[in-house]
Amino acid sequence: MPSGDDTFECEACGAVVAFEDARRTETMGDLDPTKWQTLCCPHCGNRLKTVFVGDE
Ligand SMILES: [Zn+2]
Repeated sequence: MPSGDDTFECEACGAVVAFEDARRTETMGDLDPTKWQTLCCPHCGNRLKTVFVGDE
């Protein structure tokens, strides 16, 4: 289960984005979208990280 305290630094615009502030999009490729989501920078849209969200 992802921690709400995680932050990610955007390599494109330098913003530090909290996990809960990141924009979530479906992953590209063949990963299961119910288990994986891509976190994107809410400021510039750069992809930050792909995270596993499928933990029950
Ligand atoms: Zn950014």
